[in-house]
Amino acid sequence: MQIEILELDEGRCRFLLKDASHSDANALRRAITSDIPKMAIDQVEFHLGPIMADGKEYESITPLFDEIVAHRLGQVPIPTDLELMSFREDCVCEGEGCPNCIVMYSLNKIGPCTVYSGDLIPLGHDAFKVKDTLIPIVDLDDGQAILIYAIAEMGTGRRHVKWQATSGVGYKYLPIVEIDETLCDQGMQCVSGCPRKVFDEVDGRPVPARPLDCTLCNTCAEECDQQAITVCSDPRNFVFSFETDGSMTSAKALELALKSLEAGFEEFARMVSELKAETL
Ligand SMILES: [Zn+2]
Repeated sequence: MQIEILELDEGRCRFLLKDASHSDANALRRAITSDIPKMAIDQVEFHLGPIMADGKEYESITPLFDEIVAHRLGQVPIPTDLELMSFREDCVCEGEGCPNCIVMYSLNKIGPCTVYSGDLIPLGHDAFKVKDTLIPIVDLDDGQAILIYAIAEMGTGRRHVKWQATSGVGYKYLPIVEIDETLCDQGMQCVSGCPRKVFDEVDGRPVPARPLDCTLCNTCAEECDQQAITVCSDPRNFVFSFETDGSMTSAKALELALKSLEAGFEEFARMVSELKAETL
């Protein structure tokens, strides 16, 4: 199993998974979706009662139920650095909550205004300042205010989708587009007919220049009067793509997913060897 990166930027990755089975590809998809650790807000404490600011009394109320505000905060991407943070249940504090496993945020706004994700202030390290600062949380009217303390901790998508670091995780078989030159009459129906513009006209002949963009829709083969085109898929090679939610780079997400997959295989091998030892 090999990986060849096709496109890689901060939040998006597209790669070729070579010499793999469908089960391998699906295992990697599930690891990218569910096994990458990331930080997310899990506890939100709302201040109750009046809030005094600028000599004026504000009511600590918003147009949304507290549960909805907490739910929205839970989905704000929190910067994740596994060098700094560990899972709360595995931490030396034994789950009590300490700077190694939780990050506290405060949010203090008075209306009228829109409260954004960028209004979350980390209490401690600035590295945990939210990067997507313009995610709207709630609108406050005149006389309304919100004061909360929120706690973020590490988790994975297996526990709740708010700990899912990636989205749009998908793959397809590597498309193989071939033109039989002995049948091709250079009618160029494939060049104009392909909805993904896979073909280019080069020196008066159609050439499948971008086969990776093919969606196997077979329109080119259907459009070709001479039946010169065959479109099929390679069952051992896959084109993968995914995006991250901004809590980490796409390269880091892929690295963590592969590590998780490797750890899973090692654990499975250990269990099988133990089973063998028991039966002998
Ligand atoms: Zn701790």
